[in-house]
Amino acid sequence: MEKRKGLVLVYTGNGKGKTTAALGLALRAMGHGCRVFMVQFKKGNPGYGEIQAIYKYLPDFKVVQSGKNKMSPDGVLADDENGVVLDGFNQGKEALCSGEYDLVIFDEINVVMDHGQLAVQEVTEMLSRRPEHVDVVLTGRNAPEEIINLADLVSEVKEIKHHFKAGVKARAGVEF
Ligand code: ATP
Ligand code: MG
Repeated sequence: MEKRKGLVLVYTGNGKGKTTAALGLALRAMGHGCRVFMVQFKKGNPGYGEIQAIYKYLPDFKVVQSGKNKMSPDGVLADDENGVVLDGFNQGKEALCSGEYDLVIFDEINVVMDHGQLAVQEVTEMLSRRPEHVDVVLTGRNAPEEIINLADLVSEVKEIKHHFKAGVKARAGVEF
């Protein structure tokens, strides 16, 4: 791919589609030979369909799960231990700063910052020090204002309807 300036893309909001948007972008980038790394905060369950698919079909898509609790189907995220969060952040930061990847995804990092488990400044510093060519995706509800200000793209997914409210339970292939 041609040399270009990396972008910071933020997917936030209370509707469904943020993590799947990041995964869709990863798939698209890999089709162009990009190397992708993803750290997933708040998730420690390898049973997610995307994790299984990556293990099975996408050996060049590197993934680290950095959470102890499963995510509840209503999108409420229980707190993880801070040590787990820090470990995931350090792995993602190392991947980002190594320059070995073209796209680095920090899934649910907005939630981690919103919960005060990671200082926003840690994230802004990392972004400012990254190699120029790397694209970064930050997902999760309640993206902090500082992150929104520095991002190149911010998309807010807004809930209009969600089947959960009609009593439909989380479903393999849709929610996980
Ligand atoms: P997805 O992973 O499907 O792209 P998301 O990343 O936008 O969703 P999160 O805010 O991370 O959603 O919430 C995590 C879980 O909660 C997912 O299983 C998702 O399907 C579900 N969810 C998302 N939005 C809502 C909502 N408005 N009401 C109920 N459940 C939701
Ligand atoms: Mg998500």
